[in-house]
Amino acid sequence: MIFTVAIDGPAAAGKGTISRAVAERFGFRHLDTGLLYRAVGAMGGDPVEAARRLTPEDLTRGDLRTLEAGQAASRVAVIPEVRAALVEFQRRFARGEGGAVLDGRDIGTVICPEAEVKLYVTASPEVRAHRRWLEVGGDEAQVLAEVRERDARDMGRADAPLRAAEDAVVIDTSAMGIGDAVEAACAIVEAGFSQGG
Ligand code: C5P
Repeated sequence: MIFTVAIDGPAAAGKGTISRAVAERFGFRHLDTGLLYRAVGAMGGDPVEAARRLTPEDLTRGDLRTLEAGQAASRVAVIPEVRAALVEFQRRFARGEGGAVLDGRDIGTVICPEAEVKLYVTASPEVRAHRRWLEVGGDEAQVLAEVRERDARDMGRADAPLRAAEDAVVIDTSAMGIGDAVEAACAIVEAGFSQGG
């Protein structure tokens, strides 16, 4: 069986939590594709070379979840050669035997347009910044500015910009608890699965 769930959306919309929960519920493998870009950004030096040399161990570094690592990731993610170097790994993961959940920015549009289920998980910038601020602290206005800056870079880039695939189901988590968002996502995956994809 090959069954891919593509989950795209902006930072702090809830897609990481939803992706892990969907993978666990259905027994699918999970790949957080943001980690690939975070690792490339954190390695320093020439990002194209870093992307070509990336190994699974590079994804286990302890410093990849910080705000700085997120900003560095979105800066290297605009480089077409970096994106190209990471495509094969993601496609193999998506279309390997068994179910797979991939979350990122371009999974439903570029990496796996043939995914059996596509979700676009979003929320207002203010809500996303507030959630991030609860995790990292500091100045909330500054966190909001960084959320907006990263959105603008991810949505405005020429290569694989962040947008919902035409056939994606949109889940807006602005006024939703994470438990309800997980249930909504699982119901959509269940429906896609029982239709045979
Ligand atoms: O999802 P996360 O916040 O970890 O992603 C970090 C950055 O990596 C994003 O802001 C985006 O620029 C980039 N990214 C991407 N394509 C993906 C996943 C992440 O361009 N599929």
